[in-house]
Amino acid sequence: MSQLGTLAVGSRHDLHVGVSPDAPDESEIGKNGGGAFGYVHSYETGSRYDGPGYRIVLFMSGCLLRCTYCHNPDTWHLKDGTYVSAQHVINRIGNFSSALRSLDGGLTISGGEPMVQLAFTQGILAAAKGMGLHTAIQTSGFLGQRADAAFLSEVDLVLLDIKSGDPETYREVTERDLAPTLRFAERLAAMNKPVWVRFTLVPGRTDDPANVEKTAQFVAPMKNVEWVEVQPFHQMGAFKWAAMNLEYREANTPTPAREVVDRVLDQFRSAGCRAR
Ligand code: SF4
Repeated sequence: MSQLGTLAVGSRHDLHVGVSPDAPDESEIGKNGGGAFGYVHSYETGSRYDGPGYRIVLFMSGCLLRCTYCHNPDTWHLKDGTYVSAQHVINRIGNFSSALRSLDGGLTISGGEPMVQLAFTQGILAAAKGMGLHTAIQTSGFLGQRADAAFLSEVDLVLLDIKSGDPETYREVTERDLAPTLRFAERLAAMNKPVWVRFTLVPGRTDDPANVEKTAQFVAPMKNVEWVEVQPFHQMGAFKWAAMNLEYREANTPTPAREVVDRVLDQFRSAGCRAR
């Protein structure tokens, strides 16, 4: 049984490893893993990047993908997160709620993958909505089948990472199948749930024009997609791979050139997407 800890304000760029060595494996916690307690990497205040307005961002532990370019491999395993009660997290959010409301912001739950600990995430989102906050999740969509109507009713905006439009490229960069993400995107479109698609531009992996085009053509007809955000790869997470003794395949991958970012933005815009 993991020891209960305290959630301190921090940053997604802080390294957290081995905090809860007795935690279950992230692949075993399942949809019904109980929502009163969970594992959290960190939280940030003052983000203007992870959804509209001024936001608090909670980084959940647990992810089933293994992206070659992941900036936060210390969010993959529950055992690297701090074991906290949902009420403790809710109290922390409550401390910021009036500021978040007055700055047109809210709560974004990211990770890791917020749907690994679905019930825990759902309870926190529901409490945030009870405070009158706008709510968002950032997700790969791989576990989208877990998101039932009750869960999605607590979510105002989905920041959906579509990491590639080509299934082979997706598997190469994530070690998982693309199809669950596409099916989740289609469900969100059918229910008209607001979505910002995020596409990480990784030179030599996801930048192939045909891969970008497949993503753009898939997203363009979806009227619920408010933005496509092209996110240039960076090396800010490299130190974590080294500290965790993981083989980092992107050690020599550069940040994409401005012309490549512009070309990819043009591809999305030409397909009919609002892209930035
Ligand atoms: S989905 Fe996100 S947290 Fe999970 S491996 Fe990929 S980049 Fe990392």
